[in-house]
Amino acid sequence: MYDVIVVGGGVNGTGIARDAAMRGYRTLLVEKRDFAAGSSGANSGMIHGGVRYLRYDRSVTELACLDSGYIQRIAPHLLFRIPFLFPLRADDPADPTLRERFLRYGVEVYLGLYDDYQPLKAGKPSVVLTAEEAYELEPSLARDLIGAVSFDEWGIDPFRLCAANAVSARQHGATIRNYATVTGFVRHADGTVGGVVLRDEATLAEERIEARAVVLACGPWSTKVAALAGVEVKIRPGKGVHLTLDRRVSNYGVICKTVDGRDIFLMPHEQTSIVGTTDDDFYGDPDDLPITEDEVAYLWQAATRSVPSVAHARILRAWAGVRPTVFEYGKLEDALSREHVIRDHAADGAPGLVSLVGGKLASYRIMSEEVVDAVERALGESHRPCRTHLEPLPGGDRHPDVAALARRYRLPQLTVERIAYRHGAIAEAICELADREPHLRTPICRCEQVIGAELAWSIRHEEGRRLLDLRRRNRLAMGPCQGTDCAALAAAVLAREANLAPAQQRRELSDLLQLRWKGKRAVLGGYAMAQEELSRGIHLGAGALHGLPLAERIPRARSGAAPAVAADEDDEGAVA
Ligand SMILES: Cc1cc2nc3c(=O)[nH]c(=O)nc-3n(C[C@H](O)[C@H](O)[C@H](O)COP(=O)(O)OP(=O)(O)OC[C@H]3O[C@@H](n4cnc5c(N)ncnc54)[C@H](O)[C@@H]3O)c2cc1C
Repeated sequence: MYDVIVVGGGVNGTGIARDAAMRGYRTLLVEKRDFAAGSSGANSGMIHGGVRYLRYDRSVTELACLDSGYIQRIAPHLLFRIPFLFPLRADDPADPTLRERFLRYGVEVYLGLYDDYQPLKAGKPSVVLTAEEAYELEPSLARDLIGAVSFDEWGIDPFRLCAANAVSARQHGATIRNYATVTGFVRHADGTVGGVVLRDEATLAEERIEARAVVLACGPWSTKVAALAGVEVKIRPGKGVHLTLDRRVSNYGVICKTVDGRDIFLMPHEQTSIVGTTDDDFYGDPDDLPITEDEVAYLWQAATRSVPSVAHARILRAWAGVRPTVFEYGKLEDALSREHVIRDHAADGAPGLVSLVGGKLASYRIMSEEVVDAVERALGESHRPCRTHLEPLPGGDRHPDVAALARRYRLPQLTVERIAYRHGAIAEAICELADREPHLRTPICRCEQVIGAELAWSIRHEEGRRLLDLRRRNRLAMGPCQGTDCAALAAAVLAREANLAPAQQRRELSDLLQLRWKGKRAVLGGYAMAQEELSRGIHLGAGALHGLPLAERIPRARSGAAPAVAADEDDEGAVA
């Protein structure tokens, strides 16, 4: 019997489980696929305040900035600064007073308001720039600016943030289970929700697990899962598409204007660049997100207009996620509030059930704290203080001495640097593992500098069960080669660690390539097509995967009419 079962292994579910376990509650966290396989792995990966919410949702900006500061303190290794430029073009729109209005707007909003919140997240103050100053900072900008404003944001690896929260929850006594789907609820005679019915996706066995309270942190799946308990949780799902480019195109994040006047961004992220994002109402199944060539063209148009050199880059893939936005009627998607709602469903005849929807990745920790407070109230427990802002996430306690580690374990410094970014202080244990078991020194992914020991660590200590999980934990196959180089090697490490039969090993490889393929379909053409042919040649021919159902035949080039295609179901957010 648990005190609380948390359903959903996104950033909110893992954050809630960590908080509940740290307060001493017997906690079970269940996730139907893998941690961060939903919205939490398909966002822009920004731990930001959301400048634009200042216009209509100042409390969201304030909360996100506040929590960003805490997240920086508990997981400093996972965050990286992204300075942004908001360029002003002469034709945006043709208005002689625009510069004056822009500067006033910039001063008032960016400098005046956002700067007030920047200290909460250790952000630097904004600066109004002339066009010449902007070009000096970012030579790749289109040459038709009349000025720009800088502002400061933070990026994060959201996959690792979720994994770190899940591991921390376990270290504090929680049981964590991925690949376990809630298919129903235990109900007592008086209607109280007293647990869940859980299906293990490996064995397909179902079991009843009892708890005093159940928390739904199911993101875009909230409506569907709540319905299993006869409860309505209403959201307004909003699909967002991103593109990942094969290189860093700019030094700064750049706000780009779309053809319909929306602001999107191009930003450097790890070894790549990300262009995002669309925001459209979505009525379909969050397990099957279509991406059309139109959506790709829309983002591409805006990015190349602001930063023409984007046209020289190769789009590696497109990926999509669904925002679990709180329901409102009669508003455009961009204007929807990013507020969150925590509901105790005792009021709906389901005592013992609490749900969370809305909010931001950047404010997950505070929202998790509020949820656990709500659970305490629902259970009639006296308040136990939250400590998630005080205790570092695993690896966040100190930054290891990378050069010393590289020397001691005779590993390339860049490799150790990347391990330290992903794992913080735990990098030491991973290097030590590579030393103890020399076969794990093998470089697996050259784009992202992943060695065998990092994969083994994720399998042994981070619930990595599938090749796709290793991809999320370690950025495997997320770089320019998209798995051409590393997928088969990584499958071999998984097979050895998990004792997989050869057919299972090939299945893992096939599933990874199939997901890669879905993410690539909407962007294929030119060099991307050549890369795809190479990858398929290697895996179908040399890897003998032709016996397994792999991808469909390669469609026409990007310029042709596009069928809707399924996106990478769980593709990466900022980490793409
Ligand atoms: C395109 C896009 C860009 C965004 N950009 C940003 C950004 O830059 N910064 C920011 O702060 N926020 C951003 N967000 C918002 C942020 O990603 C979300 O608010 C956050 O990830 C929601 O997390 P969650 O844990 O509630 O949901 P999810 O991450 O979706 O987690 C829900 C989990 O529940 C699981 N689940 C569903 N049904 C069941 C079941 N029956 N049994 C067990 N498990 C189940 C799912 O598999 C899933 O993993 C963005 C969102 C999108 C879509």
